[in-house]
Amino acid sequence: MFCTHAIRFMEKAGRAAELALTAAILVGVLALAPVWAEDITRGAVTGQTKAKGYDHPGQYLHLLPVRIADNMEPVIVHADQEKQARHKLAVLEKRFGKKPNILIFIMDDVGWMDPGFNGGGEAVGNPTPNMDRLAHSGLILTSAYSTPSCTPTRATIHLGQNPLHHGLLRPPMYGEPGGLDGAITVATLLQKLGYVTQGVGKWHMGENEGSLPQNVGYDDFYGFLSVSDMYTEWRDVYFNPEIALSPSRFAMMQKLPFNRNNVHCVKGKKGVENVYEINLSTIGNLDQDWANYSEKFIRKMAKSDRPWFLYHATRAGHFDNYPNDKYAGKSPARTVFSDAMVEADDILGQLVRALEETGQLENTLIIFTSDNGPEGEVPPHGRSPFRGYKGSSWEGGVRVPTFVYWKGMISPRKSDGLFDLGDLFNTCVSIAGVPGAEIAKHLPKDRYVDGIDQTSFLVADNGLSNRRSRFYTLNQHLSGVRIDEFKLIAALELEKAIFPRGYQAGFSGAIVTETGGVTMVNLYTDPQEDVNSGIRHIPATVVLGAEMGRYLEVLKRFPPRVKVGFGPTN
Ligand code: CA
Repeated sequence: MFCTHAIRFMEKAGRAAELALTAAILVGVLALAPVWAEDITRGAVTGQTKAKGYDHPGQYLHLLPVRIADNMEPVIVHADQEKQARHKLAVLEKRFGKKPNILIFIMDDVGWMDPGFNGGGEAVGNPTPNMDRLAHSGLILTSAYSTPSCTPTRATIHLGQNPLHHGLLRPPMYGEPGGLDGAITVATLLQKLGYVTQGVGKWHMGENEGSLPQNVGYDDFYGFLSVSDMYTEWRDVYFNPEIALSPSRFAMMQKLPFNRNNVHCVKGKKGVENVYEINLSTIGNLDQDWANYSEKFIRKMAKSDRPWFLYHATRAGHFDNYPNDKYAGKSPARTVFSDAMVEADDILGQLVRALEETGQLENTLIIFTSDNGPEGEVPPHGRSPFRGYKGSSWEGGVRVPTFVYWKGMISPRKSDGLFDLGDLFNTCVSIAGVPGAEIAKHLPKDRYVDGIDQTSFLVADNGLSNRRSRFYTLNQHLSGVRIDEFKLIAALELEKAIFPRGYQAGFSGAIVTETGGVTMVNLYTDPQEDVNSGIRHIPATVVLGAEMGRYLEVLKRFPPRVKVGFGPTN
């Protein structure tokens, strides 16, 4: 189910290589001399060289990570940067007299190259000056990863688990059961640590009582419970005339058991308060309404002696985009997607201005990201320079535009160090005072944590990632692993396998789980993932095979779950 025979073969080879690697590291340490100091002749084709080459501090193929808890992913420890980060946090806490605030600003279906800081912006007809200014004053993460779609990513951020472990393998639609169901989330833990927790915007992590925001850690929530298209696509005579222009079918949609409103949820209160119905007349106001709600929260909290966590999830980006009237045609591209990007950029600017004006900017960590890559089947949509779209585990589907900004705390730079959005779970809690392996004490022992505490990566000057590898999932499959520039592929979406015409992306293709076996790409020489490097680069392939093997053992000890899946009963 999770890997091909050939990948299994690579795991065996990889385990042998891992033992050899361990032995080589030990020999190197014991001899107190680098193992590469021998007189090695290199390059029969390119000519022999005595050149020493370069090691890059953020590359870990040759390193083994440190195991910190039985139910947590191992980490690359950087003791010095950890010490520096903790010192900076302590100084800041002394200055403000409370822990730092955290703002997660998450967009929907926005591609890696949509904002200007990753090469889009003006170049694709939707300038993003606020995103760009903050990104370039903070840390741009060029290899930050989501899952292939909305709900799995949002649950990953909240639970620190990849979809195989949290079981939300795809979004629940039109009132389907399944969600967070009372799980301990990042909001639960922050609330426990004294934070005021506020959710605003798109939820889409379950509509049942146990999954409502106030029952998974939020003091207050204002937004919609599902996903943008569910409120409008069946009403729209252009997109779905088959439903919108049939009274009986339209009535069928109105009877489906999902909430059609912008809602308000409050801790301690059952259910939701319906604020207003979301339809073709009101949807264009949602992002403005939500922005004002978040701004009000930020301004109110300036007077509080408690730190806060604000999860602001935009409507913008997901089809069908209905930017506010005031933004119609405001992007040079003039598409609804690009207009929505420009609107969202203004909203980010609005929230940051509120932080600045209330003196909270320097005590607030801001994370900007997207929940998955562009949805390639419904134009106009986002853009990515990488292969594939939302719904696949090609880079285009899961590598998302991301930066972290923290005035005075994060030095401006770019890093290609691996960052999984699941790391936000650990990192937010770490910044709130529960670092590293300590988070395990707050969770059930049978819960595996795929996230890694990346506090020192973000906060230390020139900090490096604490993550050696990043696993890819695709529906119910473990689909690959990346270490440094190498990505081993075990399952994939073959885009053009089924439909010869129309948009061929994301959810339209076929899932292939039996590959030729030695299928690995080099994301530096071939970011488009269309050339196999597996055989030519077997020294790297076996290391990635070993890493895949390690995680398959993790999946035996902490088995995959299915809460919303693809089978006949799900
Ligand atoms: Ca999405």
